[in-house]
Amino acid sequence: MNDPILIAGGGIGGLAAALALAAKGFPVVVLEKAAELGEIGAGIQLGPNAFHCFDTLGVGDTARAMAVYVDRLRLMDAMAGEEICQIDLGEAFRRRFRNPYAVIHRGDLHGVLLRGCRDNPLIGLRTSSEVLGYTQDAQAVTARLANGETLRGRLLIGADGLWSKVRRQVVGDTPPRVSGHTTYRSVIPVEQMPEDLRWNAATLWAGPKCHIVHYPLSGWKLFNLVVTYHNNAPEPVAGQPVTHAEVLRGFTHIHPKAQQIIHIGRDWKLWVLCDRDPVENWVDGRVALLGDAAHPTLQYMAQGACMAMEDAVCLAHVLDQHGGEHVGGLEAYRRQRVLRTARVVLQSRAIGDHVYHPEGVHAQLRNAIMAGKSQQDWYDTLQWLYGSNGLDGSAAT
Ligand SMILES: Cc1cc2nc3c(=O)[nH]c(=O)nc-3n(C[C@H](O)[C@H](O)[C@H](O)COP(=O)(O)OP(=O)(O)OC[C@H]3O[C@@H](n4cnc5c(N)ncnc54)[C@H](O)[C@@H]3O)c2cc1C
Repeated sequence: MNDPILIAGGGIGGLAAALALAAKGFPVVVLEKAAELGEIGAGIQLGPNAFHCFDTLGVGDTARAMAVYVDRLRLMDAMAGEEICQIDLGEAFRRRFRNPYAVIHRGDLHGVLLRGCRDNPLIGLRTSSEVLGYTQDAQAVTARLANGETLRGRLLIGADGLWSKVRRQVVGDTPPRVSGHTTYRSVIPVEQMPEDLRWNAATLWAGPKCHIVHYPLSGWKLFNLVVTYHNNAPEPVAGQPVTHAEVLRGFTHIHPKAQQIIHIGRDWKLWVLCDRDPVENWVDGRVALLGDAAHPTLQYMAQGACMAMEDAVCLAHVLDQHGGEHVGGLEAYRRQRVLRTARVVLQSRAIGDHVYHPEGVHAQLRNAIMAGKSQQDWYDTLQWLYGSNGLDGSAAT
């Protein structure tokens, strides 16, 4: 059958899936709702598992050239203004996990994947093509677009994000779970970052019901600021501009050294974070889910996009192994991905409660446990996540 594989969504997951599938010889058409393909102007952290994926996708060198290589993950106590612990990302880390840890501008990451797609004759990219739903029979799946058009494919991959329309039909579940955590993002020129905070680190300041993350971006020209306040916000929000005073409201109780980060941020935008309880029915005949459409997560393990890329690599690998045959291939993909991604979703929630936002004795206990770990302990803790290339389905160690 010559019908292409249809992919709903041209985000990081959808483009990675297009590259991975085309690399196995499958023709692909990406259907993106927006009028232009792109990403928001903020940063993203990439574990070594993301770099394993880049290599499989054939964009390893270009992605490496865009990244900033932070030399540690640093956990700070936002009340005391002091370091709790750090994870060294140097030689020993890279040797153990066979790749580095890095941070990158989302636009650069998306651009790397997009260029790879544009250069591949097996990949078609369509914008202003919102997928509303699908029908299928023994021969093919037909995607229904918002403009009334229908498109026939051998498979349909729903990579259409948190509010996925494909998922609505595959899983038929309720809307995403609103976490009540409000995140504010800002990107500033490096010279506006106080000199004593210009650390070559992905830094997390953890305080009661709030935390702050910052790291350098784009060849050290920018700093990415992401600050989160657990204020029980009831409704999902995405990318809404907010005033400096509103951001500050959640951080008045923390140490001045941490609080100054709120003051230096500019043009803050707000998101109310959502995730979903893990489910296992990601597949309906010729249709499967991928990335946030399948397993949206809070960002506290910095793994949502990494998992989407792992999904892409795994999907292409197992479909190839099954000769493109959909029933066995999609089911094998689902089996390999469900537990690993569920662990990321559930562990991200737990980290929010026990590491990012506790107070009082709970926070003291966090500090005692985290400070007591050796570098070897940290590397062992992270083995299941960073040691895998997404193909072995590793969810335990
Ligand atoms: C504050 C924050 C920080 C984060 N930090 C990190 C991090 O450091 N590291 C990390 O790995 N992850 C991080 N993540 C998670 C990461 O951003 C997401 O998991 C990842 O972008 C998901 O990619 P995706 O392609 O699955 O979905 P999306 O990025 O949501 O892409 C979906 C695409 O589908 C399109 N679309 C939507 N509906 C339709 C439709 N019906 N038809 C066609 N197209 C459609 C959309 O326009 C979009 O282009 C973070 C998330 C947040 C909120």
